[in-house]
Amino acid sequence: MIATTQKPFEEILSLLQDAQKVFIVGCGDCATQCETGGEVEVAAMKQKLEEAGKTVTGTVVPDVTCNMLDTARLLRKQKGEVQDADALLVLACGTGVQAVAQTQESKPTFPGLNSVFSAITERKGQLSEACVMCSDCVLGDYVAICPIARCPKGQLHGPCGGYDNGKCEVDRDKDCVWTLILERAEKTGQLDKVLAKISSTEAKNYEVNKHPQSLAFEPRRAGKLR
Ligand code: SF4
Ligand code: SF4
Repeated sequence: MIATTQKPFEEILSLLQDAQKVFIVGCGDCATQCETGGEVEVAAMKQKLEEAGKTVTGTVVPDVTCNMLDTARLLRKQKGEVQDADALLVLACGTGVQAVAQTQESKPTFPGLNSVFSAITERKGQLSEACVMCSDCVLGDYVAICPIARCPKGQLHGPCGGYDNGKCEVDRDKDCVWTLILERAEKTGQLDKVLAKISSTEAKNYEVNKHPQSLAFEPRRAGKLR
């Protein structure tokens, strides 16, 4: 999921400085799990904006805000409230904000959250970064632990010179990702393979990680296998 944090309220007010009337959009998926843009946070934001003198014309929390067609359908159901607003405030990740903006040609649309990383939910309220979407996944070489996302330097061929006693030089309280990789390699019987990969000079293909990327495919019809 996409981990998000809420922007400071002063920043949100500054973004909305030219908008007296605001319509708020949340997200029922990642931002709900992060407790940054679910029903509860949308209601709290409505109250804070009203206390700050704004008028909130309406709110909606789509199931998955980045699903643009569904979000557009929901916003059409509240067309009057959306049209009445001077701006939309979106409590969703950056992708969700842009999906909403694409449904509203002439309505200023602002983010209420910061998108911080693609996360594993270790448990409720504890998220950790695990993938930076490099477009050429090397998890198969490194026992399903990503050295790019989980090492501050993205070290691909073993630990850097700052590695000490299994700990990371950037944060001595944390294990170096290479400690985790080698321990798991041993446990899963892949140590020789991982060591061979570490000592190889084969370069990773970063060329494929260009932006913006897009994917187009023919969606599968219900009940049919490809
Ligand atoms: S190698 Fe790491 S950053 Fe790249 S796709 Fe795999 S998990 Fe994501
Ligand atoms: S000690 Fe390990 S995790 Fe820390 S920066 Fe160096 S290689 Fe990366």
